[in-house]
Amino acid sequence: MEKIIIEARVNELATRRGNPNVPFLPSEIIADAKACYDEGASVFHYHGRKADGAPDHAPEFYLETNAGIRAQSDILLHPTLGYVANDADARERFAAVEAMMASADTAPDFAPMDCGSVNVDWWNPETGSYDTTDLIYKNSTATLMYFAERIDHYGLKPYLVSWNVSFTRQIEQFLKMGVLRGPAYVCFCMTDEIIFAGHPGTQAGLDAHTAFLPSDFQTVWTVVNYKGDLFQLSEQIIRQGGHISIGLGDYAYMDGARHMTNAEVIAKIVAQARSLGREPATVAETRDILQMQKPKIAT
Ligand code: ZN
Repeated sequence: MEKIIIEARVNELATRRGNPNVPFLPSEIIADAKACYDEGASVFHYHGRKADGAPDHAPEFYLETNAGIRAQSDILLHPTLGYVANDADARERFAAVEAMMASADTAPDFAPMDCGSVNVDWWNPETGSYDTTDLIYKNSTATLMYFAERIDHYGLKPYLVSWNVSFTRQIEQFLKMGVLRGPAYVCFCMTDEIIFAGHPGTQAGLDAHTAFLPSDFQTVWTVVNYKGDLFQLSEQIIRQGGHISIGLGDYAYMDGARHMTNAEVIAKIVAQARSLGREPATVAETRDILQMQKPKIAT
């Protein structure tokens, strides 16, 4: 079977109340990148955070962190555009990536495009109601076309996030238009427990996603379970030929009563993939599977 691309998603907007091992600062993220790479991850996704955990989307954060990661390994970099923490116009949302493209030492390999819009309010299971009621993750078609143009300009790989079937359908239209080129790397963002914007992290939720992958275009798919335990579904994903994106950013993984580290989460999923006959893809193999170009540094 094809090798499996393992992506470490180390922090997102996760707090340390759930797991104290969530990295916030550049030095912490850099250390996790090396540790996850050593366990078999070939892609690394992170969000800029302040010491108190608040989002930090300043370009300087990404420049420092990318350079530190690059100095230690060739793991493929997939920084965020800010998720709901960077609710600016398309140009501003992409500004940190533009800054990263100034040098090979800081250039990422992927840039994300969440190909639709969705309500992303936080559910509170204790009160049985929403803690927020106006959080919209807004990605207009014009914004997405702008991102696609800039991503293509720099030779980066678009990381196409699909929260539900309507996102996948928009990806298909972009492929038809030539806004995106194959193979399309699609991440099914499933959601559980405290956010319900995606499909449930179940076999039925996954089947509903894969059923609508565009059949006329080459696609490669990976799966996230945001705020849910992806190990509940990982065996099926591995057997079905999917790839895995996992880490403490999504879920406060435990080993019994002990809080796991990101590297331990990666080691656990790599062991499971191997037991099912799929070796983790190296960086070079991941580039090959996704037909990635070398990023073009701005001059
Ligand atoms: Zn993210």
